[in-house]
Order: sequence, then C-alpha cells, then structure tokens
Amino acid sequence: MKSFTYERAKTPAAAAAAVAGTQGARFLAGGTNLLDLMKLEIETPTHLVDIQDLGLDRIEQTDEGGLRIGALVTNTKLASDARVRRDYGVLTKAIVAGASGQLRNKATTAGNLLQRTRCPYFYDTNQACNKRRPGSGCAAVGGVSRQLGVIGTSEACIATYPGDMAVALRVLDATVETVDAEGNERRIPVGEFHRLPGETPHIDTVLKRGELITAVTLPKPLGGTHHYHKVRDRASYAFALVSVAAVIHDDGSGRVAFGGVAPRPWRVEAAEAELPQGAQPVATLAFADARPTEQNRFKIELAQRTLEGVMLDARA
Ligand code: SF4
Repeated sequence: MKSFTYERAKTPAAAAAAVAGTQGARFLAGGTNLLDLMKLEIETPTHLVDIQDLGLDRIEQTDEGGLRIGALVTNTKLASDARVRRDYGVLTKAIVAGASGQLRNKATTAGNLLQRTRCPYFYDTNQACNKRRPGSGCAAVGGVSRQLGVIGTSEACIATYPGDMAVALRVLDATVETVDAEGNERRIPVGEFHRLPGETPHIDTVLKRGELITAVTLPKPLGGTHHYHKVRDRASYAFALVSVAAVIHDDGSGRVAFGGVAPRPWRVEAAEAELPQGAQPVATLAFADARPTEQNRFKIELAQRTLEGVMLDARA
C-alpha cells in the first residue's frame, strides 16, 4: 500500500473542502471497498478524509412522509430499521442479499452507492482496463465476460455496477443529497447518479470532485408487495449474475429494476407498463437495446425468468 496522510473532518462542508482542495484525496467512511482497492494499489489516495464524526448516522422521517437516511447509516442499521422493514421491504431484502454480516455492520449507505465494479480485470493490475487506467484498453472485451454487462455498456467498458442496495433505491425513486466544498447542496435522483461508461468509464458517478453524499431520501411508501430476487453462483457472499427488485400491486402493476446487467441499476419505466401482461414483454422492452457477449447472453433470459419468479411470489 502506498503511504498517505489522514484527517478527521468536523463538518460536511469542511470534509468536501478538504477533498476538493487536495489532489488525490478521498473520503473514508466504512472503508470496506476503498481499503481493499488501496491494498491492491488500484486506488492510491494521497490523503484520506475520515467522515465518521459528521453525525450523518440517523434515519429520520421527512415532512413528505418518507425517510431521510444519513450517509453514514450502516447497511445493518438500515436493513433492520422497523420503518424500512415495514414500508420499504425491497430495500431490506436487497441489503441483506449483499456481502456478509460483518461487512454490512461496517459498510455505509453512501459507500454502498459508491462501490466500484467487480470486473476481474479491474482488479488485476497486469491487465488493460480503461476504468482503472484510462486509455489502456479493455481486457474484458474478447476476454472472460460471463459476469459482465449486457446493456448500457460501451466499446470502452462492459463492466456492471455490482451493488444490490442501489437496485432497490432505483425502484423506490430515492434521491441522493450532497454538499460541495462551497457548501452548495444538491439533490440527485438515484437514476441519474451512476453514469454509463461511454468513452470515460473511469468516472462512475455524476459527483464532482469533493462533492460529499450527506443523505439518501426515500419518498413516501409505495404500498404493494416488495421483492428482491438475486441469482448468483453461490448462495451467499457473491455478486449478482442477475437480480430483480420489484414492487407489485394487487392489480399486477408495479415497478421493476434489474441488477447485475448494466453499469447502473437498470430500470426502463416504459417496460413497467407491461407488468400486468407478464415478465416476457417487460424483459423484451427492458433489454431491447442489449449488446451481450456470447458468454453473457444468458443473462437476458435469466432476467426474464427471475422476474417471472418475482411475479409468482407476488401473486402468492
Ligand atoms: Fe476495465 Fe471495464 Fe474493461 Fe472491466 S469491462 S476491464 S472494468 S474497462
């Protein structure tokens, strides 16, 4: 690991200013992804700004009837909150499907959103990777791509966003709240938070340098039944080949987002109108622009079948 300096910020704006003003600085929250990346020298920050003293660890009711989740609320605390379990069950189910209990105890809401891809070539510093080293190429194109993306990808990168929590947040239409170094606050719909790779896959999100996530806000509850089905190569502690987050109402209408298939949680609102007709027309529309590789073409049918399973559960 490369050497670095360290400080503990006292306010969100001070933390944002410290990262914005220091070339190569990074925020440190739970550290469950960043420290792994530092050990492998994929991330080599010059300075870490620890944000654990900022008091962003509460879940509060909003005036609109939703919840405001502090950026530092741990995954365990969020998944077990009685209000979340009762009104936003898809979120609890998605979080519990991710990582291990030990990691969820430490991982934070903001950090979960910011976790980086698990493309194997991203983690192998001997391989070409445009996300790790811009302009170096992409070893996954023409390489082993079974786990990688089928839609929203580009010639420069076919990686997926790996998380579960954000797929549920996408179905719930959550909003990400931030503050920058000048103290300006911003509200970003979670559907606009993760970027598609295009020619610049090294930029994962729309955050500016030094812009700090302070909270994630959920709108008022949607009702319906909440589902998160995750298909993976082993029963726990593995990333999704395909996942489906859904809220389904009694009349068959609802919302659905897919994980493990794209560089961000994949939701196509126009496809949701087909939910009462069944999974096949939803998947057909949602994956109409898919560009799978020979190795991961199976994900499209798997996504449809996983959604069929969700709809069976909802009817039951
Ligand atoms: Fe890197 Fe993306 Fe290619 Fe993986 S798919 S090697 S993350 S550029």
